Amino acid sequence: MQRNIFMKYTILLLFWFNIGFSQSPYPQDYFRSPLDVTLVLSGTFAELRSNHFHSGIDIKTQQRTGLNVYGVAEGYVSRIKVSHYGYGKALYITHPNGYVSVYAHLSKFSPRIQKYIKECQYDKESYEVEVFPSPDELLITADEIVAFSGNSGSSGGPHLHFEIRDNEERPINPMLFGMDIKDTKPPVLSAVYAYPRDRNAHINNIKKRKELRLIPNEKGDYTTEPIEAYGDIGFGVVTYDQQDLAYNKNGLSNIQGFYNGNKTFEMDFKRFSFAESKHINRFIDYEVYKEENSRIQKLFVQSGNTLSMLKDVNASGYITVEDSTNTVYKVRLRDFRGNESWLSIPVKGQPAKEILEAPELKPNTYIIANQVNELEQGNVSVYFPTNTFYDDFHINFSVLNDTLKLHKNTIPLMKSYTITFDIKNYSVADKDQLFIANLYGYYQRPGYISTKRLGDLLSARTKSLGTFTLARDTVNPTIKPVNFQEGKWLSKLNELKVKIDDDLSGISNYRATINGKWILMEYDYKKDTLTYDFDDHINTATENNLKIIVTDNVGNSTTFESIFFRK
Ligand SMILES: [Zn+2]
Repeated sequence: MQRNIFMKYTILLLFWFNIGFSQSPYPQDYFRSPLDVTLVLSGTFAELRSNHFHSGIDIKTQQRTGLNVYGVAEGYVSRIKVSHYGYGKALYITHPNGYVSVYAHLSKFSPRIQKYIKECQYDKESYEVEVFPSPDELLITADEIVAFSGNSGSSGGPHLHFEIRDNEERPINPMLFGMDIKDTKPPVLSAVYAYPRDRNAHINNIKKRKELRLIPNEKGDYTTEPIEAYGDIGFGVVTYDQQDLAYNKNGLSNIQGFYNGNKTFEMDFKRFSFAESKHINRFIDYEVYKEENSRIQKLFVQSGNTLSMLKDVNASGYITVEDSTNTVYKVRLRDFRGNESWLSIPVKGQPAKEILEAPELKPNTYIIANQVNELEQGNVSVYFPTNTFYDDFHINFSVLNDTLKLHKNTIPLMKSYTITFDIKNYSVADKDQLFIANLYGYYQRPGYISTKRLGDLLSARTKSLGTFTLARDTVNPTIKPVNFQEGKWLSKLNELKVKIDDDLSGISNYRATINGKWILMEYDYKKDTLTYDFDDHINTATENNLKIIVTDNVGNSTTFESIFFRK
């Protein structure tokens, strides 16, 4: 009798597990590949990028543009966005099952969609447009070519950025839908760190971040040198994954931490929302990222880090080391295909020896994160709204000769804050050409940050600390023809191309006409070019007057005019 119940129970368990493993909540054969080449990724879902997690996968396009891009299933075009930066030319298709597929950095759309968007562009007299066609306007059938791959927007080389979003606009890893990517290599670990939670904790008698010597073994797993520690400590890893067909260092799909055999931390890179993506700067060690360009992923969670990809986090991911502790902390690193590597960190309890530390010199101004903070000196004021920062801290703040030193850019911000310069002591002519610049890099070059003027006050909003100054742009933009000359016949040309440039504040806008009619010119900021396509048929006369006006960010502008003939 007892045996019978046991057997029943076993069968039930087996049955339940079977369902658990075979059923994925995501349809496996619904979406086809967006390209008809072998899928090789230069970027994976949720991998770590500057100020955000990557919201899709980057598919290589054989170093070229113009590959056919297919709608991954039937549906309708629900959004088209064309912008100079970001996604460049992007297409969104809504499918009957509620998911939305996204295709970005395109070179152009299919003729039908291209016609639709050009009408919008001519209508609004703007290259940059965003439209939301209704469900019956641009229906997409299965296997339809919807666009051609490109390198438009903020793309560093030809590729297709592809996303799948759920019905709440949250990007999901497209690989969950059965995409075929060859990957037999486990994740690689390149560095490990230990962190004391507070002043009561230490690692090898050090009360700050400590890099641990990493020892790979022949199986592909890792250990570190044993550590002696005390109090609450956490760990951080620098890690990447490579697939079989490319050398690109991509992201992982899951990281877990185990203490005494129990899971105390998990980060699962399956899905996130755009609103939480900024917390990447809390998830990584932002200071090390800004100073050494290395991204340490912290296996512990600090205040304000509300990432939904964090699962089963116990005691914020920290472990408590006591006198008697003698154990191993383990980390499991996994890629999407389930290849995994393990890290073992031997931990032994050891109260700290008496450590003599020089007292830190701290500046007077103290920022309290959960309230408004205002700073003022000379002609400069700074306004930080509530919760601009994750933590309270002593801020370095000084103003000298119109240069504002505001701590260092190694502190992550949750929000933008406002810097205001009073320019009443400048001449009227100067006032028109001033802007607020961020001094960046080794040479402290001035970079334009979007500046607004209200009377004698110049203000700018920014999301990083650093050094800021007033800069003046006195030089007008330049406009030079690339493929034509004044007064010539251009009947055989397919396009008109000019090069535009601005030395300091940068291009703000441009407007081009032929015989007074607005023409669509595509701005490629990476090549500094404006291009007009003669297929738009705006010029119908033989003699044509091309006029282009380019304006920089402080309002200096240049007008270029040229006559050409065409039949
Ligand atoms: Zn991408």
